[in-house]
Amino acid sequence: MEVRNKLYIGGEWTASTGSGTLDVIDSNTEEVMGTIPEGTVEDVDKAARAAADAFPVWSETPREERAKFLTRISEGLAARKDELGKLIAREVGMPVMLSTIIQAGLPAGVFAEMGEALDAFQWEEEVGNSIVVREPVGVVGAITPWNYPLYQIALKVGPAMAAGCTVVLKPSEVAPLNAFVLADVVAEAELPPGVFNLVSGVGPVVGEAIASHPKVDMVSFTGSTRAGRRVMQLAAESVKKVALELGGKSPNVILEDADLDAAIPAGVAACYMNSGQTCSALTRMLVPRSRLAEVEEKVKVVAEAFKPGDAFDPETRLGPLVSAVQRERVRGYIQKGVDEGARLVTGGASAPEGLDNGYFVRPTVFSDVTGDMTIAQEEIFGPVLAILPYDTEDEALEIANGTVYGLAGAVWGGDRDHAEKVARKLRTGQVDVNGGAFNPSAPFGGYKQSGIGRERGRFGLEEFLEVKSVQR
Ligand code: NDP
Repeated sequence: MEVRNKLYIGGEWTASTGSGTLDVIDSNTEEVMGTIPEGTVEDVDKAARAAADAFPVWSETPREERAKFLTRISEGLAARKDELGKLIAREVGMPVMLSTIIQAGLPAGVFAEMGEALDAFQWEEEVGNSIVVREPVGVVGAITPWNYPLYQIALKVGPAMAAGCTVVLKPSEVAPLNAFVLADVVAEAELPPGVFNLVSGVGPVVGEAIASHPKVDMVSFTGSTRAGRRVMQLAAESVKKVALELGGKSPNVILEDADLDAAIPAGVAACYMNSGQTCSALTRMLVPRSRLAEVEEKVKVVAEAFKPGDAFDPETRLGPLVSAVQRERVRGYIQKGVDEGARLVTGGASAPEGLDNGYFVRPTVFSDVTGDMTIAQEEIFGPVLAILPYDTEDEALEIANGTVYGLAGAVWGGDRDHAEKVARKLRTGQVDVNGGAFNPSAPFGGYKQSGIGRERGRFGLEEFLEVKSVQR
């Protein structure tokens, strides 16, 4: 049982002004695995003031010094990689081997990359008689979700601190314990007080207080489109800069000449990663009608190999969902797919056999899905793949671009040049062609209602910078 009873504000572990606590549940067992403070509006006020007080000194700290702190944080996280991998496997349910590599490994990489990026970044340039300089935006409020909890924190806190900003972080109440480990690491790295502040609690209280606080200059939010919209409305009052990384319904366009033996296993895996709780999950597989039967057969075999089970069982490829709420939501969507006339290829809304505890959902595939069905339009956030047949490439593009989202996508085709042309026609922030590898430095973010702004690498750093022109 991990009891965290203090918030991290102004460089000190500090009691909340309230007395509430929140339970953290192990998604594998449904048992309480820890508790955290339920922060208050006053706690946010203290944290925002601490961050504002720290800003003048931190923003003027030489970049080489800031880089050293970031490197220390990276090393601190790397030293705790196994502990974090296990912790997040319990909080979120991702199989522990993957959790250690992805959930614990990537965040350490972000802090290391940001430490290095400071040197290479072009901080000034000349435009005619002006020098254009890049300066930190100020106090950043970071509000993050539970699906890749520490990575999403790192993608905000790393570049914000690198840029010279100070931070108030509200992690997800569903998977918050990893954020307390980050605060331990920050404390050990002896960051100046107030540069990093952690206030745990619930979105409608702590999140809204951050989005509204007059001393917060920018809010960077990752999560649902619903909550993102609310954050943007609140931030509008004081005209804060807003970055939003929201949901997706990403298409995987299989072209007529695609190599199905490569495309299908990769496509199913990209839908089921983290039990489908991935914003960029490729949840819609668009298939030429002429190859539909062949695709269905292959998808079924691959999907059924995703054995649901405990995240700590080495056989498990599909862990539980994060929470009871999420499990019920996903089962509801599966039922809706059936009700609206999609054809189940495998899986279904009933619980997987023999798994009485833990938030498990069967790996599910629907075919004959049409673009107007709910399961083709809404983000499900579970292991549910929709196969949509198409007759012409134009129709495929229309379906692919026919949702309110535009986060990620993929194209598979025998003719690479042609596949790349199709990729350019997708209205999404990322596209993988023929299984193009994950690039942690490539900008990531959404078109349309998938968000505003970009995270990762140089583009991620730029989000936290203002632009000043000095005329001479
Ligand atoms: P939310 O958007 O509710 O949560 C994300 C973060 O926002 C959490 O820290 C949450 O707090 C906070 N939050 C919630 N409401 C507010 C508010 N009014 N003002 C400020 N902050 C707020 O996501 P859910 O956890 O409810 O997930 C619901 C769905 O959202 C998922 O099923 C999925 O479809 C989508 N989602 C998408 C993600 C993505 O990466 N694109 C990530 C997570 C979810 P709290 O800790 O109280 O939850």
